Amino acid sequence: MRIAKVWIEHPVLQLDQVFSYDALQLPAEKGKRVSVDFNGRQIVGFVDAVTEVDDGQPETQVNGRPLKPLLSVLDENALITPELFELAKWMAEDTLSPVISCFQAMLPSKLKPKSSNQKIKMEQIAVYVGEHPLLTPRQKEVLGWLRTEGPTVLAQWRKQSPAITRTLEKLGCVRLDSRTVKAREEQVGQAEAFLPLNADQKRVVQEIQTSTQDVILLHGVTGSGKTEVYLHLARQVLDAGQQVLILVPEISLTPQMVARVKGRFQNDVAIYHSALNNQQKYEQYCRVFEKQASIVVGTRSAVFMPFDHLGLIILDEEHDSSYKQDSLPQYHCRDIAIHRARHFGCKVILGSATPSLESYARALKGVYGLAELKERVNRQLPVCTVVDMKNQNRAQSGILSDVLRQKIADRIKRGEQAILLLNRRGYSPLIKCGQCGETLQCPHCDVALSYHKSIQKMKCHLCGSEFPLVTVCPKCGSRTFAAPGYGTQKLEEEVARLFPQARVLRMDADTTSRKEAHQKLLEQFGRHEADILVGTQMIAKGLDFPQVTLVGILNADAGTARPDFRSVEMTFDLIMQAAGRSGRSQTPGEVVIQAFDPNHFAVVAGSRQDYQSFFYQEMQYRHLGGYPPYTYLIALTFSDVRPDRPKQSAQDVAQALRQSSLFKVLGPSDLFKLQDRYRSRLVLKGKNLDQMKAALAQVLQEYRRQRSQAHLSIDVNPLILE
Ligand code: ADP
Ligand code: ZN
Ligand code: ZN
Repeated sequence: MRIAKVWIEHPVLQLDQVFSYDALQLPAEKGKRVSVDFNGRQIVGFVDAVTEVDDGQPETQVNGRPLKPLLSVLDENALITPELFELAKWMAEDTLSPVISCFQAMLPSKLKPKSSNQKIKMEQIAVYVGEHPLLTPRQKEVLGWLRTEGPTVLAQWRKQSPAITRTLEKLGCVRLDSRTVKAREEQVGQAEAFLPLNADQKRVVQEIQTSTQDVILLHGVTGSGKTEVYLHLARQVLDAGQQVLILVPEISLTPQMVARVKGRFQNDVAIYHSALNNQQKYEQYCRVFEKQASIVVGTRSAVFMPFDHLGLIILDEEHDSSYKQDSLPQYHCRDIAIHRARHFGCKVILGSATPSLESYARALKGVYGLAELKERVNRQLPVCTVVDMKNQNRAQSGILSDVLRQKIADRIKRGEQAILLLNRRGYSPLIKCGQCGETLQCPHCDVALSYHKSIQKMKCHLCGSEFPLVTVCPKCGSRTFAAPGYGTQKLEEEVARLFPQARVLRMDADTTSRKEAHQKLLEQFGRHEADILVGTQMIAKGLDFPQVTLVGILNADAGTARPDFRSVEMTFDLIMQAAGRSGRSQTPGEVVIQAFDPNHFAVVAGSRQDYQSFFYQEMQYRHLGGYPPYTYLIALTFSDVRPDRPKQSAQDVAQALRQSSLFKVLGPSDLFKLQDRYRSRLVLKGKNLDQMKAALAQVLQEYRRQRSQAHLSIDVNPLILE
């Protein structure tokens, strides 16, 4: 008898095991999807293995009954290469997630093993079969066309001549068939030439090529020409007949990267990111699977593309938090990239002007190689001014200092552009009763509601709920409200008031919710149809606008108030990255940093574009607090609609985990309610991650079997601990 072991995704239970089915009648194979009956439900699963077992063996039965047969096999060929298959299993262990959730994360929606499988678009095609003795010269000519073209979409084939093509079909010279829809060849412009590298870039390329390390951190200040280095490295790998993967944090924010890669490599490029629809993702996946594209530019999930002779992985802006998936399975793209590279024996380049502390510490220890670009291509870093906002004359403008206002006015006069960063969207971060001081809160999430003036609504930035404006204070009945503080909408209004002649664009989650809105805004700004771009952290990333000679960073130190061990690092990154947008071309750039604590080391180091001094200071704090990179953390979040349940569950798990003295168990601590779910948190902290994971895995086995417990989500190496 043949038994197929199948991973299935149960709609309710978190099952992390394979189930056996009778595969005698069907061509089941490792990596193919199958349809099975599970407790009367038809569910799609993934075959883990097929084994031959003698009849009568215990494996051929479950609870005394014979195994159920597979209902059907969905794929002709295994979708998942053996390498990806092993990757999923490793990832499950690495992130302590169910195996099936890792398969789900790896595949485009259309291919995911789900109960309601979406249809893949098919198209009719004409395929050449053979000649026929009675063909006229004209018929021969039309048939010859198909022979040279190869299988062709039916409509296009018929265009050759409807009558003749039909005759050829009748004579059996042509067969009609169907195939899945292929990605249409995208229009590509003129091929762009590679820029000759400068001496520093050449040195770095050489260092990378001759390095014996398989992971190399490319630390280069903003505008030092890292992208150009990537492109040169990619070209060599492609010329050697291998594949290249370039990972970027967010496609919509890095249109220039996509344009540069496409300009150089034309049709050989596949673009893969979350804004594609399911069919487009599927098509791009197939292009890589069928080797029509050898270089992929994509976001986090592109790390799972089905390569089979990968020669290089580049992870640009490696510090960026979007590389971490925040839902199950909570993997970090960097870890996956390094794991896959090891399989292919290829290099991984981690690029950043502000490497994560973990990566830089590893590079200093020699775990990673280190290559550095210390100067900008144009040899000029922007000049920075720090403004102490404690002493500003508030009557003038609550948000823009005199210095910054003056410099903005200069730019407008000179016809240059400015970027203003304020990392908070909406009009104001809260609405307060003018009488009793009550702030209005989201009923689902225990956080203050933001005021959105343009739509006259209050929004919760955590769950996205919107509420009409309240006119009467629910606590004291007063009708006066204040909207203190600034968001990007209020800033935009203020800028328009102060500079009526200036053209202002705003870029934040509210102005970019429509498809391609990012791109339109950036193109508009790039064509200099606006003088000032106001926005959230979105505008700090990767943009290369030569006419921007001023960047203003408002409330630059606000982020340091967050009670999270990485908040200072994130604040520093944001200042450095935003400052990096200024003066990237001929005209020198300036940066104005407005802060309430201008002596904070993140602000001081940021204003000097001094990564090293920030690194060493922050490492001291991490050392004192026992935080990464000196330790490893695992965060456990328990959540439930029942108020007491999360804490109770957390206590149970904490007690079980405290049997081990190999690591600390901190908590439980209450988190604020999120989307009507109460939450409690435990944090494991220790020096040996494998031991921590092993102990936790054991406790989890028991926990997942108990039904009444709170929902538990696990984050190994969390980026943020609220
Ligand atoms: P980074 O990725 O480090 O921010 P980029 O690769 O975007 O830097 O380079 C910054 C600017 O310098 C870009 O406008 C780019 O076109 C230009 N540039 C980079 N390398 C060269 C070079 N070798 N010669 C001329 N210009 C270059
Ligand atoms: Zn009130
Ligand atoms: Zn909410």
